[in-house]
Amino acid sequence: MKEAYSLLQLEEPPDEHPHSPRPDLRCRRRMCWQSVPCVTTGAQPETELLPVLLCLLGKMGRTERKAEQRARILQVEEARQRVRRISQILKKPLGARNPEDVMLLTECADLVKELEQRSKKQENLKKRQEEVCDEPNELRKKVCELAEVVRNARHLVVYTGAGISTAASIPDYRGPNGVWTLLQKGKTVCASDLSAAEPTLTHMCIARLHEHKLVQHVVSQNCDGLHIRSGIPRSAVSELHGNMYIEVCTQCTPNKEYIRLFDVTERTALHRHHTGRICHKCGGKLQDTIVHFGERGTLARPLNWEAAAEAAKTADVILCLGSSLKVLKKYPCLWCMNRPHSRRPKLYIVNLQWTPKDDLAALKIHGKCDEVMRLLLGELGLEIPEYDRLKDPIFSLAVPLKPGEETTHSRNLLVSPLRQEESRAGPESSSPEPAVLSGGWFGRGYAKGTKRKKLV
Ligand SMILES: [Zn+2]
Repeated sequence: MKEAYSLLQLEEPPDEHPHSPRPDLRCRRRMCWQSVPCVTTGAQPETELLPVLLCLLGKMGRTERKAEQRARILQVEEARQRVRRISQILKKPLGARNPEDVMLLTECADLVKELEQRSKKQENLKKRQEEVCDEPNELRKKVCELAEVVRNARHLVVYTGAGISTAASIPDYRGPNGVWTLLQKGKTVCASDLSAAEPTLTHMCIARLHEHKLVQHVVSQNCDGLHIRSGIPRSAVSELHGNMYIEVCTQCTPNKEYIRLFDVTERTALHRHHTGRICHKCGGKLQDTIVHFGERGTLARPLNWEAAAEAAKTADVILCLGSSLKVLKKYPCLWCMNRPHSRRPKLYIVNLQWTPKDDLAALKIHGKCDEVMRLLLGELGLEIPEYDRLKDPIFSLAVPLKPGEETTHSRNLLVSPLRQEESRAGPESSSPEPAVLSGGWFGRGYAKGTKRKKLV
């Protein structure tokens, strides 16, 4: 046995083959065991050369594989260079191409076709992201047409997106400086203190139109809670992606809602919705109402969803304001897609960028929401109300924190003009809000990678 082992030791793969494939090694070992009697008798076994031969064969296999890999890499690199060369030629004006260029283009006709299609697609995508403004005269003409539609609408529903809140320093999503655009470019998202944001002119105009029964319902993608703060009754607003001021207890039936005077999403992110406070009624853990991209959110249905579905069913006109509609289009019932095209509500879109519903719209207005709404209310002869913090419904809707709960958040409180003195004593009211957004209200669990503030 010892001799056999010693032979095995000798037959261990040499250093230059540290990664010899296992089958070879097994094979060589088998050969070594077979050679044991030969060692005992002192005779040189014939089979002793076999392991070396097999080892060499294995080595060749590896060399071949390496060569094959190298050839493949070279091939890919060649193809890449060809694509680069053809792309450069295609960028040249026709007259500037030399005979060699022309020959290469003819030789690679399929590739040329593919590259041309690709560049056309890229151009279209770029065009869609561009913000376009209608000429003032055209804008006025279009708003006149819209005013006529608003006057005669039987049941008008407004769908709003981030574009209506940009005037409140809240970043939109897909605009040139939107949250998604910046995150995709690997840039940091900065924003001013959200609790300082107030309803914009567009929010106030929609509230006025609702007051005059010219708008029946508002469906919003925004989580900033500004529609409710503009004075529209809660029953007339559906917030598809939640509201940063509302936390809910899903253990209570029906779900118990707590409206707060601060951003409740401080500790929440994608798939992480507990806000750190508990239900006053049942002791269940409270959760935010935000729906992030790629998840269903805490609630079985978005806030006031039934009313949104009902409004869409009855609507004869839909007015979309400041939304790319890329997310809203995914809710078929909002567009009555189960009906024939002629029986669907008429669609009016106000947005600076392209939307996937543009081709279906009766009218597309390229303009800033505030500007369009100012003109629209002028046409309708309605005065635009100014936001008045004294009349902000959130102060009467809010559920106060219980003693001891004040330290469960570190966000600035919304301050009611009537209770300014009281709120000054609020938690960290004197500390400035961090410039980089860390809340979970705009999705993708953006705060996950960042260090969370340790709460006292
Ligand atoms: Zn509860």
